[in-house]
Amino acid sequence: MELLRNQLVCAGVRVEANTSLRRYSSFRIGGNARLGLFPKNREELLVCLETVRRCGVPFLVIGNASNVVFSDSGFDGAVIFTTAWKELSLHGNRMYVSAGTPLISVATAAHEAALTGAEFAYGIPATLGGAVFMNAGAFGGCMADICETSAYYDTQTGEMRTLCGAEQAFANRTSIYEKNPHYTILSAELVLREGDKEAIGVQMRDYMERRRKTQPLEYPSAGSVFKRPVGYYAGKLIEDCGLKGTRVGGAEVSIKHAGFIINRGNATADDVRRLVELIQERVLKESGVTLECEIRFL
Ligand SMILES: Cc1cc2nc3c(=O)[nH]c(=O)nc-3n(C[C@H](O)[C@H](O)[C@H](O)COP(=O)(O)OP(=O)(O)OC[C@H]3O[C@@H](n4cnc5c(N)ncnc54)[C@H](O)[C@@H]3O)c2cc1C
Repeated sequence: MELLRNQLVCAGVRVEANTSLRRYSSFRIGGNARLGLFPKNREELLVCLETVRRCGVPFLVIGNASNVVFSDSGFDGAVIFTTAWKELSLHGNRMYVSAGTPLISVATAAHEAALTGAEFAYGIPATLGGAVFMNAGAFGGCMADICETSAYYDTQTGEMRTLCGAEQAFANRTSIYEKNPHYTILSAELVLREGDKEAIGVQMRDYMERRRKTQPLEYPSAGSVFKRPVGYYAGKLIEDCGLKGTRVGGAEVSIKHAGFIINRGNATADDVRRLVELIQERVLKESGVTLECEIRFL
């Protein structure tokens, strides 16, 4: 680990020892990682990936940590955060975006250029990489609609590849990347359409307002806990079981939106896991629907 640290520091990468994962996660949950790595450009991210691969150090690639529950015991390896690498460029209606770019910047840049298609992304607290990985979406739109290609680095082989269209295997909050954890998304090419700047702005503000009204944004969370089951809404099924406000330790089913679990201040990953299991059991028993987790326990 010391060798890895020295090599990365020499390459100019910001390295943090004993990184608090809780501090970086939107849920404010998690122990410490041995090392936190913060590459600020493509070269530094590739150096991080190549070095952890060569040194055989266990690692995780994380974006904005808005869909993950880090373990209470932390991570005995290196966590590579992509958030310092923000690059976005527009060529006509095509947008080239680096893994660490906030999705909100994608929506804002599209709006400024009067391009439509990315409005749904406004308000999703993701990085581009995390959004492609999860096929993030809202209000009827998702990454699959706009992500034409994505480039990744394969830590098993050390190769880089670009996937086009259907090769990315986007589906309900998943993609080829979820099935291949050794692929690290480097960047993506988004394709948007010409639109009316004012109408795009109105739509974005409306989406943000709807989030503020319906989601418990005042508490730490990881967004919707469960994927939307076909033909149902997870939040409604949970609410119908009378589970709003149910607590396990510091984790609580939000009263504002039953699809969210919030951290009331001192929740642990174990509290969240036990509350998730309780919800799944009750919903299955009362409605026969199996709820599949969207949040990722790491
Ligand atoms: C208040 C709130 C509202 C939310 N609203 C929505 C919503 O409307 N729609 C929605 O879909 N989601 C929503 N989410 C969930 C979350 O923002 C999305 O799932 C998002 O896509 C996660 O992006 P991230 O950068 O935070 O990824 P992370 O949480 O950092 O990571 C998620 C997964 O992606 C992997 N990953 C991240 N970056 C890379 C990379 N470069 N290469 C390979 N793997 C990578 C990680 O290893 C992890 O397994 C919400 C969350 C919160 C807290």
